[in-house]
Amino acid sequence: MTDEAPSGTPEPLPPQGDLRAAARRVAEQLRAAGHEAWFVGGCVRDRLLGHPLKDIDIVTDARPEQGVRLFRGARKVGAQFAVLVVPEGGFHFEVATFRKDGRYRDHRHPERIEFGTREDDARRRDFTINALYEDPWTEEVVDPAGGLEDLQAGRVRCVGEPERRFNEDALRMLRAIRFAARFNFEIDKVTWEALRERAHTIVHISPERHRDELTGILTSAGAGRGLRLLARSRLLHWLLPEVEDMQGVEQGGWHTEGDVFEHTVLALEHLEPRTSVTAWAVLLHDVGKPPTFQRDPQSGHITFYDHQNIGADMARDIMRRLRFPNAEVDAVEHIVRRHMNFLNVRHMRQSTLRRFLAAPEIEEELAVHRADAMASEGIPADRRLDAYRYCREKLEEFRSQGEDPMPPPLLNGHDVMAAGIPRGPAVGEALAAARDEQLDGRITTREEALEWLRVYARDREGAV
Ligand code: ATP
Ligand code: MG
Repeated sequence: MTDEAPSGTPEPLPPQGDLRAAARRVAEQLRAAGHEAWFVGGCVRDRLLGHPLKDIDIVTDARPEQGVRLFRGARKVGAQFAVLVVPEGGFHFEVATFRKDGRYRDHRHPERIEFGTREDDARRRDFTINALYEDPWTEEVVDPAGGLEDLQAGRVRCVGEPERRFNEDALRMLRAIRFAARFNFEIDKVTWEALRERAHTIVHISPERHRDELTGILTSAGAGRGLRLLARSRLLHWLLPEVEDMQGVEQGGWHTEGDVFEHTVLALEHLEPRTSVTAWAVLLHDVGKPPTFQRDPQSGHITFYDHQNIGADMARDIMRRLRFPNAEVDAVEHIVRRHMNFLNVRHMRQSTLRRFLAAPEIEEELAVHRADAMASEGIPADRRLDAYRYCREKLEEFRSQGEDPMPPPLLNGHDVMAAGIPRGPAVGEALAAARDEQLDGRITTREEALEWLRVYARDREGAV
């Protein structure tokens, strides 16, 4: 356990046998020096659930200053350097010393670190399913907090008194929802009530941590349910009020599935693949609908005029507030801004469609569009993916012709001026016209382009 926040975007999993063997070697060295060594937390939980492991955390009674002497290349990290990072077999293992609960302030950090026993260590872990200890050799599991029963029942329950545990560290509220969404677990009643009562304290946690936990929820297998839990707990109200506002916004038209929020939940459920960018883009694709909602008083017809542009600007503000890197902010903004264009793809000219499909984010846009369409339940099931399939076919076609959907231009400004077109706006106009010819497939080689230019320049001369 360190103070590093988990990353929301899944990383490739390490070879499981190698990971476990390397972790055992680290444990072996601790034991050879007369210390205890246990695998702990997520890796024990995930093994029991039959999920592959992404890392293995180790706990020991050895003090960091003792541990650091045992391992070549080990570094002390974490709050007050209570954790060692030990390189072994191409992996990095976190080796933490058993700790006692310190006093907390500001719903965040313990004031100081005290070392303790394994039982003390279990008491400071967040949920019972995360307070399991595994013997590295026998795989026997030690369960000081009742985590095995909760794992069996599919339940997220705080270790100790939930009120106190959430007061100590408000981030645990988001973690509870993340684990519930990832494993499709219930949240224990007492834990849930304590969480709902203090959802507002989530504002004491840094935006970066909000970002990482929310991303973890939105990219988990139960992302749609995770979003519902965020809304029901009111964490959504404090973190993403713009998304909360989607609740109760009627849509009509193709959206027989329900209000804007319901549509978004369904879209998240349909999303594939779920990356940070696709998940945030789905979450925010209709965030411009609440502020643009209009109902025609005569016909009762509902519109959301320009919601994609208003929504793209809102998405940008939200993601900046959560301190996303610029590249992710830009990608999500772009996807939200263009999400309505998919309705027109079948009426686009070839050159327009090529330009549209040549966007660097096109694969992510297609994933978002697919999820959006699948969640539009008023469209007959066999028609929902028409635009999606058309784009896929066209991309396939452009690529199989050995062509980049966006090939480099065949002509430059020098060619145009050499053909007798005077420097100035006329050069840009000629280049744009040549580009349309190229993207529409009427000219494909430089020779054809120069021939086309000769005719263009002559006609232009005649017209002036
Ligand atoms: P993941 O698969 O998301 O990594 P994890 O359970 O391994 O799940 P980590 O954030 O890697 O979660 O933390 C490792 C362990 O440290 C947890 O299993 C838990 O025991 C403990 N832990 C992490 N964060 C907290 C916290 N905020 N409060 C108490 N214990 C925590
Ligand atoms: Mg972990």
